Amino acid sequence: MKKVALITGSTSGIGKSIAIAFAESGYDIMFHGLEKNGPEIAAKIGEEYSVKTYFSNANLKDQEAINILIAETIKEFGKIDILINNAGIQYVSKVEEFPLDKWNDIIAVNLTSAFVASRAVWPSMKKNGFGRIINISSVHGIRASEYKSAYVSAKHGVIGLTKVLGLEGAADNITCNSICPGYVKTPLVEGQIRDQAKAHGLSEEEVIKQVMLKKQAVKEFIPEKKIAELALFLAKEDSSAITGSAYVLDGGWSAQ
Ligand code: NAD
Repeated sequence: MKKVALITGSTSGIGKSIAIAFAESGYDIMFHGLEKNGPEIAAKIGEEYSVKTYFSNANLKDQEAINILIAETIKEFGKIDILINNAGIQYVSKVEEFPLDKWNDIIAVNLTSAFVASRAVWPSMKKNGFGRIINISSVHGIRASEYKSAYVSAKHGVIGLTKVLGLEGAADNITCNSICPGYVKTPLVEGQIRDQAKAHGLSEEEVIKQVMLKKQAVKEFIPEKKIAELALFLAKEDSSAITGSAYVLDGGWSAQ
């Protein structure tokens, strides 16, 4: 029987690249995200790699919707072997002007949803004696940047949650690990490059090197494919001893 992966936020950016890599490796995939063309993305990738796919647009701000997402996935595929908590949002503001509703949204989507989804999937993983939970944190889970109070708090929280789940899952062959990327050139980041080029009066090339990748020693974006390869490695059956850890892919940012 094929292994089943549920990847939140898999109709865009990093999540989509992870989903493609898992489909390519023969996993059935539960796609999820708010993108309007989600059903088409899921169907196209399923057809291309001859794997079963399904799609949900559950809003991760709604805890009951997350419980339904897990139940729906188990109903459709019979099980969830791999849960990848990837969906995330960002908001940038000075702390004294940071709106509370933006703080609450970021904590809900980037942190609470990972807890609620993991809690909901836990009994079935325990029953199956197999589970791999992979949380997409960030280099901001171990380092801070100005104006990102909510995001940095949520991403640090994800690493704490990962450690606890790693400990609690050990006896049942459920592992939990975080991946902490530096900057990845997703649609989200491409928009930020354009905005910053305008704001700073620089070329997009200059923004990338001088502003965005300032803290990375390697002045290159982290390839989505490398994140997907690490996720595949962590998802393997024989990766059972690897748990509770945070894997940094950040071009040397946190080496400083
Ligand atoms: P993205 O905007 O391309 O994708 C985010 C996905 O999350 C989308 O599918 C979106 O629909 C989904 N999503 C957002 N809010 C949601 C909600 N309320 N309910 C359901 N789905 C929701 O972003 P990305 O750059 O691919 O980011 C993916 C993850 O990687 C995030 O957790 C992000 O924090 C993390 N990350 C990104 C970078 C980067 O440079 N791009 C770096 C480090 C970590």
